[in-house]
Amino acid sequence: MQFKIMKNPAALDDAARADAMANPAFGRVFTDHMVTIRWTADKGWHDAQVRARAPFQLDPASAVLHYAQEIFEGLKAYRTGDGGITMFRPERNAQRFIQSARRMAMPELPEELFVQACEELIRIDKAWVPGGDGSLYLRPFLFANETFLGVKPAADFIFCVIACPVGAYFKGGAKPVSVWLSEDYSRSGPGGTGAAKCGGNYAASLVAQAEAIKQGCDQVVFLDAAEHRWVEELGGMNLFFVFEDGSMLTPPLTGTILPGITRDSVIELAQKQGRTVEEKRYSIDEWRADAQSGKLREVFACGTAAVIVAVGEVRSVHGDFAIGGSQTGPVTADLRDTLVAIQRNKAEGPEGWVHKVAL
Ligand SMILES: *Cc1c(COP(=O)(O)O)cnc(C)c1O
Repeated sequence: MQFKIMKNPAALDDAARADAMANPAFGRVFTDHMVTIRWTADKGWHDAQVRARAPFQLDPASAVLHYAQEIFEGLKAYRTGDGGITMFRPERNAQRFIQSARRMAMPELPEELFVQACEELIRIDKAWVPGGDGSLYLRPFLFANETFLGVKPAADFIFCVIACPVGAYFKGGAKPVSVWLSEDYSRSGPGGTGAAKCGGNYAASLVAQAEAIKQGCDQVVFLDAAEHRWVEELGGMNLFFVFEDGSMLTPPLTGTILPGITRDSVIELAQKQGRTVEEKRYSIDEWRADAQSGKLREVFACGTAAVIVAVGEVRSVHGDFAIGGSQTGPVTADLRDTLVAIQRNKAEGPEGWVHKVAL
């Protein structure tokens, strides 16, 4: 598709941009431009634009404001040693965006158009891609914009990509995080939207995340909604367990868990290292018992924003327990270093993982 390119006349100059990029807090600093594509029932995808980042004008009856028909993605672009820019497995994000759209009765943006939209934004805002440990976090999203209060899939949508320069997610190196076990709230249920990357899942998780913070924890961990027994994931990260024999386990994709691309990459890398990785249900009772017996050596969470971070402690109304020491364990650290090196084009990864952006 041909994008109409309109440069932002008020784009920051080099000094102001350097200032904005010095130590940006996650998700608070944005680049000069955005990409938008419209979809209507009669015209399909059309009106692709690269333009100045600016607020949308929405009618108060815009469907997304009432019925939350919205999906999003998150992926990163990296500056490589040779001055190039790469993305990590963007086709997988494009495919997941299609799956999310299907579940939410939204139009499916073709894979090539998703990737092209990300590339267009990176090209025009390439000066915003940090070097060093930083990266440019891309946020593609799609929302219903029909002016109608009737309950039905909308006939009018806006796709948009915005971007934020980000530093290392955890400043001063990643320390193991603590998680609060949510026993009252579920993130998703069987037949629900847990496998779709939609804003509604996050809305449903915020009260539990707030409770976790109040309890002095960094993150919340959810159990399954049916039995309140099986460990699912954090609010926005998948979980892995590492045992004394070097084998690993992660909860299976049964429709209530988000199929993370980091999760998928970790499984492949761990298997390449000769580890057994089981996608198998794991109960909170097993977690507690295995942590106490020492059979469980390491636990980590993974997702695009933080990549891989150790989980050092679980707290709940039924008692707390620790896993490993106060340091990130060796398997977690090794997988993180390996994955980060591949993402930054410093080590060779599996075929097709690194997508070079034509600048
Ligand atoms: C996005 C997300 C993840 C992580 O997915 P990645 O593709 O690895 O970034 C995990 N859980 C939830 C709920 C998410 O929304």
